[in-house]
Amino acid sequence: MPELPEVETIVRGLEPVLKGRRIASIDLRRPDLRRPFPPDLRQRLTGARVTGLSRRAKYGLVHTDRDDTLVFHLGMSGHWRVDPGEIGTHDHVVIETDEGRRLALNDARRFGSVDIVRTEDLDSVEPFARMGPEPLGDAFDGAFLARALEGRSAPIKALLLDQRIVAGLGNIYVCESLHMAGIAPGRAGGHVAGARLDRLAEAVKAVLLAAIDAGGSSLRDYVRPDGELGYFSKDWRVYGREGAACHCGAVIRRRADSGRSTFYCPKCQR
Ligand SMILES: [Zn+2]
Repeated sequence: MPELPEVETIVRGLEPVLKGRRIASIDLRRPDLRRPFPPDLRQRLTGARVTGLSRRAKYGLVHTDRDDTLVFHLGMSGHWRVDPGEIGTHDHVVIETDEGRRLALNDARRFGSVDIVRTEDLDSVEPFARMGPEPLGDAFDGAFLARALEGRSAPIKALLLDQRIVAGLGNIYVCESLHMAGIAPGRAGGHVAGARLDRLAEAVKAVLLAAIDAGGSSLRDYVRPDGELGYFSKDWRVYGREGAACHCGAVIRRRADSGRSTFYCPKCQR
């Protein structure tokens, strides 16, 4: 599943193709992905000029000069193909720019989505209305975490995965951040305080930025916007490393909870 760093990488990869260009055509090759495409999607995008791209949580945003924003989510297996030689069975949405460049949204499992929203309404529509701040934004810091986690008895790991507290964090990055910050994943959120929360916010940012710098990382096969295979990170600190040695010398453990695996070091995470 593409995580926040992959989506950021994809948005950055789409930008040189789309920004400033007019959308000459948009071809919807089926009626839906996870849900039906909006009936006015084609009409609102055809002829519009792309003013910029951005990301919110794991959603890519394409803004146009008609004050609309195309919102895409890549689901489990989605990716964009840039200037594909030919359009394939799983290329469900094909955008052509006024320069004749083509982008195909390829999604074999069809868990992705494409919507169009008035740009001014972005913060007030689902799924964005109840989302917490971006983890890479200035609003996400130790003081914010202190307010958000105060009195919470749920495990800190579950709270960091809650999109209402902070947007876009997935299992891999939460495991890695907690290890970097030396915080046990099962510790009650309200029992982590002070400088430890500053360290945690810094660790979240550092782990995400390292992955973005590496060009996005994923455990799944997925194609980067430039048509190359995505970067596969193999140097996680704890994720997927059950039984291996932590840098502190202890053995990394895995715990299964609610269908997810938690990887952690029992010695240096407290
Ligand atoms: Zn350790």
